[in-house]
Amino acid sequence: MTASRGGSEEARQLADLAGFAVLGAILAPARLVRAGPTACLVRRATGLPCPACGLTRSWNAAGRLDLRRSLADHPLGLVTLALAAYWATREPEAGATVPAPGRAALAALAIAWLGVWLARLRAALLSPAAR
Ligand SMILES: [Zn+2]
Repeated sequence: MTASRGGSEEARQLADLAGFAVLGAILAPARLVRAGPTACLVRRATGLPCPACGLTRSWNAAGRLDLRRSLADHPLGLVTLALAAYWATREPEAGATVPAPGRAALAALAIAWLGVWLARLRAALLSPAAR
């Protein structure tokens, strides 16, 4: 049996998508990312943040080494940027459908992401501006 080099097509596409997302968010002009119109349809329709709101700004700030702003824009921005950069630069494991670090790490990230989103949603709902 010979192991094929590289992961599944799905894993390679995910890695390519991660690379484009990292480069796009980092290379986009900061003034455009900060002052541009809100692209999020959820926020535009409801005024409330979706789970990914602030991620582009967070990655953009991280790309400029403004880590405090990155964390303020999205608490998981640095983690997700590191993960996306890792995926984009690593050859997926043979036969993998999800690039390493694998499903357990993704599950932990998903749980953290849900917790962060619920906290941000609660803060938005309780803020005086939302009333
Ligand atoms: Zn959003």
